[in-house]
Amino acid sequence: DVQLMWFRSDLRTLDNRALSAAAERGPVIAVFLTSIPQWQRHDHGANKVDFWLRGVAALREHLAGLNIPLLQRHIATYDEAPAALLELAREHGATALHFNREYPLNERRRDAAVESAFQQAGIATWGHTDAVAYAPGELLTGKGEPYSVFTPFAKAWHRQLAARRIALVEEPEPQAQLAIDADPPPSRDLEAMADAPLDPSLWPAGQDEAGDRLERFLRFRGHHYKRQRDFPALPGTSELSPYLSLGMISHRQCLHAVMSNNEGHLADGDAGLTAWANELVWREFYLHIAASFPDINRHRPFQSHTKALVWRDDDAGFQAWCEGRTGYPLVDAAMRQLVQCGWMHNRLRMVVAMFLSKHLLIDWRRGEAFFMRHLVDGDFASNNGGWQWAASTGTDAAPYFRIFNPTTQAERFDPEGRFIAEYLPELAELPLKSRFFPDATQRRQTGYAEPIVDHKAARQRALDAFKSLTT
Ligand code: FAD
Repeated sequence: DVQLMWFRSDLRTLDNRALSAAAERGPVIAVFLTSIPQWQRHDHGANKVDFWLRGVAALREHLAGLNIPLLQRHIATYDEAPAALLELAREHGATALHFNREYPLNERRRDAAVESAFQQAGIATWGHTDAVAYAPGELLTGKGEPYSVFTPFAKAWHRQLAARRIALVEEPEPQAQLAIDADPPPSRDLEAMADAPLDPSLWPAGQDEAGDRLERFLRFRGHHYKRQRDFPALPGTSELSPYLSLGMISHRQCLHAVMSNNEGHLADGDAGLTAWANELVWREFYLHIAASFPDINRHRPFQSHTKALVWRDDDAGFQAWCEGRTGYPLVDAAMRQLVQCGWMHNRLRMVVAMFLSKHLLIDWRRGEAFFMRHLVDGDFASNNGGWQWAASTGTDAAPYFRIFNPTTQAERFDPEGRFIAEYLPELAELPLKSRFFPDATQRRQTGYAEPIVDHKAARQRALDAFKSLTT
């Protein structure tokens, strides 16, 4: 019985639940639906799309080693998915379709439409839980509701974690050769996209690279993670986010690697490794939030009383933020990192997101979209969660009166000014203290931007705007 395996954001042959389940039932044919217009609607930019397509090419090679042909179909939008998959299933006489579940709303709607079309056609569908340890709905509060606060979610996550939830599955054995050729690797002609992608060597795609990164991180940096993770000048974090968001590595592979370096534990033992494992629980938390609260998928704030907030209409301010010319060195260096690398350090994501939503009082959704257009790891659930946290509109949000001062953040988290000097070379020669916030003469001499807002006044403006909301 031919099994059709539909790859989406799970671009690996190792520890892939849907793939292994399909291979247990019969010969497998794999398919990937390239849907660039749909991805663009979700604000993904050329960096991510290029990484995605390179990931498909790397997957194709691994599948070839298992004699599983990878076919590619092009669809404009998700509405076309049911017909494209049905046609393939019929052409090859497939008796079942397998996929790993995805949790944002449009992906769930697409999958529901595919399931119903296949049901009508009498072909089985199997949606597997793979990206998370608990499917949304499986981990609920005492009242039977989804968690909306991280700490109790994480406690319950650890408390109820049975080994089977994070058990690794074997890569399938090579199957007998089929009389079907794989399609050529996807074309990476992205001319229709607004920007050109970054140099692909910055983020090599595929499961081999992801596995190497995990190993290197755990060997050299994992134990120091807790102490180093907040300092953007250090390579203190794993830089695995692009790989996790497209499933070139599974969260289970990461958790098992932690356990094997930490005497079998995830929550006790080595402080660095357990802190890192906790970040993977954050990832799962936001996936649950995306699945359980459909409104956040419709560009609405999690806390509905914040809908009344009047954001400032300030295109010039927004442009200055995007281009790294706010006059606050840490903010500007971070925004240049985003544009130059397609990635930004987590501490800085918090700093710049707060600067946009608080100091500039610009709608966080504009920042969310700009991030998506540049990030190689752009992921709806984590990005939306991070933005709503910073804007104090979300779950667990930063209380609105806790507004980061971008200059003291620089002093604390870039104490030698190295990160600032790397991305703002014009400030590299200034005395250390001035690198955090140059004076007017230094700005004139270096050509560095004047601050577009005064920290104190901007902070007060944000406090007043939030105070006027009634909860
Ligand atoms: P590590 O510190 O090594 O963490 C390991 C993994 O845990 C990450 O790869 C990621 O999968 C997960 N993780 C870590 N921190 C978080 C977090 N706060 N929330 C959810 N998962 C987390 N992450 C994305 O993957 N995609 C996004 O689009 C994204 N947008 C963000 C936007 C904002 C405003 C903020 C504040 C955070 C955002 N994050 C996003 C979360 C976090 O910044 C990145 O996951 C992290 O910086 C990636 O670097 P790393 O792989 O070295 O992380």
